[in-house]
Amino acid sequence: MLIDSHCHLDHEAFASDRAAVLERSRTAGVDAWVVPAYSPRNWSRLQDLAESAAGVAAAYGVHPLYLGELSEQDWGRLPTLLAKAVALGEIGLDRGEDAPPLELQLTVLGRQLDLAQELELPVILHARRASEDLLQALRAWAPLRGVWHSFSGSWEQARKALDLGLHLGVGGTVTHPRAARLRRVLQALPLEALVLETDAPFQPPAAHPQQRNEPAYLREILAAVAELLAIAPEKLAEITVKNTLIAFPRLERELCWTKP
Ligand SMILES: [Zn+2]
Repeated sequence: MLIDSHCHLDHEAFASDRAAVLERSRTAGVDAWVVPAYSPRNWSRLQDLAESAAGVAAAYGVHPLYLGELSEQDWGRLPTLLAKAVALGEIGLDRGEDAPPLELQLTVLGRQLDLAQELELPVILHARRASEDLLQALRAWAPLRGVWHSFSGSWEQARKALDLGLHLGVGGTVTHPRAARLRRVLQALPLEALVLETDAPFQPPAAHPQQRNEPAYLREILAAVAELLAIAPEKLAEITVKNTLIAFPRLERELCWTKP
């Protein structure tokens, strides 16, 4: 029993075979998925998926790279959508070349953090080349609950994120030989800090280079982290599922498999 704490199952990459992808995932023992939105344009598509597929839990929000698609009308829709969500996300900061100005990103991030606080919802955070910026921005909203997805910062930054109340998402990057720093950081962190994710269709594990990632591959991430931390995969699965349910308290309610 595993939870993919971050995947984009609503993405068009899964349009032609989503049912088969879900089936392969279940067969691999990954039978719950937290699916964060990125653009307001896809909120309805995600809502349809979460309502129709058992085990799919949605989060709504605006990813920093999609701020240009956000309207005042979208802000008006968010609280209603969030009433049935497990988190607000994915939100954050991005210093990629294709990203909007950081000032604008900070304004929208702050407004979304305000909303999460008001609705008592956890957040799903994204940072690309902006871990320090994000840590600084988050301070004003501490304590927080939620997941810093695909964490790639230093040990000091990880510690600060945990102090804010966050969990750290570990995905396919950990399986790549070049991720030496990430592996050192993971080895130095408490197990209670970690949740597992694929970020499918993005960030495939090393065994599937250049391919579409999918939630079934969470098994490979589990195996890699278990080996790294010298712990039995079943034990790590149990701990990370528990961590995910702590990070997203509403998730248990969404998932019939956790109910008696
Ligand atoms: Zn994502």
